[in-house]
Amino acid sequence: MPAPADQIIELRRRFDDAPPSRILATVLGEVFTGRIAVVSSFGADAAVLLHLVATIDRATPVLFIDTGRHFPETLQYRDLLIGHLGLTAVRSIGPSAAEIERLDADSNRSTWDPDGCCAFRKVVPLEQALEGVDAWITGRKRFQGATRTHMPIFEIDGRHVKINPLAAWSATDIQAYATTLALPEHPLLARGYRSISCAPCTSAVGPDEEQRAGRWRGFEKTECGIHRPALANQPLTNQSSSGK
Ligand code: SF4
Repeated sequence: MPAPADQIIELRRRFDDAPPSRILATVLGEVFTGRIAVVSSFGADAAVLLHLVATIDRATPVLFIDTGRHFPETLQYRDLLIGHLGLTAVRSIGPSAAEIERLDADSNRSTWDPDGCCAFRKVVPLEQALEGVDAWITGRKRFQGATRTHMPIFEIDGRHVKINPLAAWSATDIQAYATTLALPEHPLLARGYRSISCAPCTSAVGPDEEQRAGRWRGFEKTECGIHRPALANQPLTNQSSSGK
């Protein structure tokens, strides 16, 4: 199997301008078949990516990081979407009860150490779950905030290839797709939440704010840590992939 950097060079050459449906059909059905998973928060825009995936293969593995701090509405929405889309391989991952007791017994860690809280509730469980695959798919978009403006569709993430098939879609594209397909809407959208994660760290946003402005208000933190700065955010060449 080629090294991730070599794969990304080839994938970018073939698919960087391709529509999400073609990217997904290729990575799921050709390049990484049986070695790939979708990671979904079942948040504000989740239905769009999951519908695209389900249209190709409803048995695609989908990982949901159940941090133990989600809104009840998110858990209900997850179950609703699974049924609506007919997804058959959604798996919840997350910290064990013993880890929660050891690292955040009073469920207050997010208020004084959100990085540490995200690390044991999100980052570590995902790293463990991804050990069995070579690539993973996210629903991230460039319009979501300043830290994602230059996000490529194909990235290197450690030894994995990370694929962001919706990177180039605008908020209008997402809304149009969801409306056309009459996809179920996350119940918190109607209350002004536009990027939804754990309840203690998510708030509604105003009309002039970025989509992710309601995440970790009061902290400088803008990402949970599962999306590390990627080597592939830099232009890749064959030379860099060979380590010269
Ligand atoms: S988003 Fe907040 S509650 Fe959720 S894991 Fe991160 S710090 Fe903890």
